[in-house]
Amino acid sequence: MTASEASKPTNAEPWVIIVGAGPAGLMLALLLGQQGIPVQVVELADGPDKRPRATHYSAPANYELRRAGILDEVQSQGFLPNGVSWRKLDTTYLAGLDNTVPDDKDDSLVCLPLHKLACVILRALEQQPSVQISWGHKVLGVGQETDSKVAWVDVETATGTRRLQAPYVVGCDGANSQVRKSLFGSSFPGFTWNEQIVATNTYYDFDKYGYHDANFIIHPEHWYMAARISKDGMWRITYGELTGLTNEELIARQPMKFEKFLPGHEPPEAGAWKLDSISPYKVHQRLVEKMAVGHICLVADAAHLCNPFGGLGLTGGIVDAGNLADCLIGIYQGKADDSILDKYSEVRRQKYNDIINPVSSANIRRLFAQDPETALQDDAFLKMLHQGSADTSFAKKLQLEIKSVMHDFTQYYKTS
Ligand SMILES: Cc1cc2nc3c(=O)[nH]c(=O)nc-3n(C[C@H](O)[C@H](O)[C@H](O)COP(=O)(O)OP(=O)(O)OC[C@H]3O[C@@H](n4cnc5c(N)ncnc54)[C@H](O)[C@@H]3O)c2cc1C
Repeated sequence: MTASEASKPTNAEPWVIIVGAGPAGLMLALLLGQQGIPVQVVELADGPDKRPRATHYSAPANYELRRAGILDEVQSQGFLPNGVSWRKLDTTYLAGLDNTVPDDKDDSLVCLPLHKLACVILRALEQQPSVQISWGHKVLGVGQETDSKVAWVDVETATGTRRLQAPYVVGCDGANSQVRKSLFGSSFPGFTWNEQIVATNTYYDFDKYGYHDANFIIHPEHWYMAARISKDGMWRITYGELTGLTNEELIARQPMKFEKFLPGHEPPEAGAWKLDSISPYKVHQRLVEKMAVGHICLVADAAHLCNPFGGLGLTGGIVDAGNLADCLIGIYQGKADDSILDKYSEVRRQKYNDIINPVSSANIRRLFAQDPETALQDDAFLKMLHQGSADTSFAKKLQLEIKSVMHDFTQYYKTS
């Protein structure tokens, strides 16, 4: 009997406890459940989070959604944006990416708001009898006995506090992760941007102004992103704001900001937009010291944060979930030992440091830290996009570069 077989549960106890039923935790549960691995997901809320957050996912996330069997559903509930453009405040087009360029639909950017994505994954999980989801379970802390290979989570529920145990615990509990705090205290190396952002879901007729389905507007003060997020004309408008304002102040300034930057009348006619939801956020670039400590691992926002311009947060998080699934499946099936978790930590941290952090940081700076009048001459990325508009094979290559955040962990499985 292998060490991993010895630690398999003999009854309905979970083999993995996942903390957090956000998209990353649910994806991990689905991939493990599809291998028959007993999983318990514990989530403090009573259902999926509906705040305006992730909407767009690129090729690396699509790969994991495809192998989980849900990409077709995601693409049909959502849609494939026609392209992404960078513009000046007066709507002038500077450069862009054509989302119809990739030969394979799976390599195209897909748009589906996060809570709808969570619902697609939850429906797929209904087919997985080895996965149990416990809503209304707030994790207070986690721990482990390294010798006996038992990890635990202390949860608070409506009926009191209790301890749940499993061989492995995974923190998918987002930016304020309790699992991360249990491992590392308040340490979360990185920084918070001075700029704040406000994300809204808004109905506004951008089509009238020739906008693509996704647009980044470069301006020192009124920088923003406008992306269509539903087939019925709802747009995600996320804009930069001054530092030091309270959430109430940020929300009160929203009409003034829209009047300043929305294309069209100056200012846009009252009632020209219909605000559906609004949420201010602070933005961070942070990476935890280790993404695996013994039998406790961290995935997605619990482990790393980046600003949302460029859609790398959850895309990277879904790749983490797929990668950790392969590591845990390897251990469960006796094809790998615990050292694969150290490899998971090393590789995923490197992907953040080499790709996600620099690319996402450049994406946000591009919007406010350069002169829009000279951006096409000064900004190497915009220059490359310009080259891509005249050279389809170069444009394809450029769009597929993001696939370098992926990694195949089955290569570390033991050969017989
Ligand atoms: C405005 C905005 C736009 C974005 N757009 C994009 C985009 O287009 N593309 C992209 O890839 N990324 C985007 N992101 C980033 C993306 O939203 C996050 O990376 C993603 O939500 C992280 O998923 P997660 O599952 O790790 O965490 P979360 O979605 O935060 O889920 C964590 C879950 O854990 C639960 N939880 C927390 N604490 C506990 C506890 N103690 N006990 C039990 N459960 C707990 C929470 O209730 C929650 O359900 C955007 C972010 C913002 C703010």
